[in-house]
Amino acid sequence: MSKASLIERAEKLTIHDVRAAIPDFSIGAILQLEGRFGIQELQVSGMLTNLRNGYRYYFLCPRCDQAFLNLYRQDCGQYACRRCLGLLYASSMRINMYVTE
Ligand SMILES: [Zn+2]
Repeated sequence: MSKASLIERAEKLTIHDVRAAIPDFSIGAILQLEGRFGIQELQVSGMLTNLRNGYRYYFLCPRCDQAFLNLYRQDCGQYACRRCLGLLYASSMRINMYVTE
């Protein structure tokens, strides 16, 4: 097994989880998450929908500043995007099995 962590084992935070906390029609918001892990502030950015009738919201990863619908964390660490955490999908791994005999 490699040392890379599987995305399925990381704790996931989706934009839908926090959507209710974002004021309607705001272009951006700062979400403050408080828990046993401490406090983390996450930046949320709104982008106009194609129909221009509202905004679609994304997290800005605190490490790379790219927009994501999901952030992850491991072992109660800070949230970041899957790329910054180096998470892999188990489904993207190829498993080879050899019969010995
Ligand atoms: Zn990132």
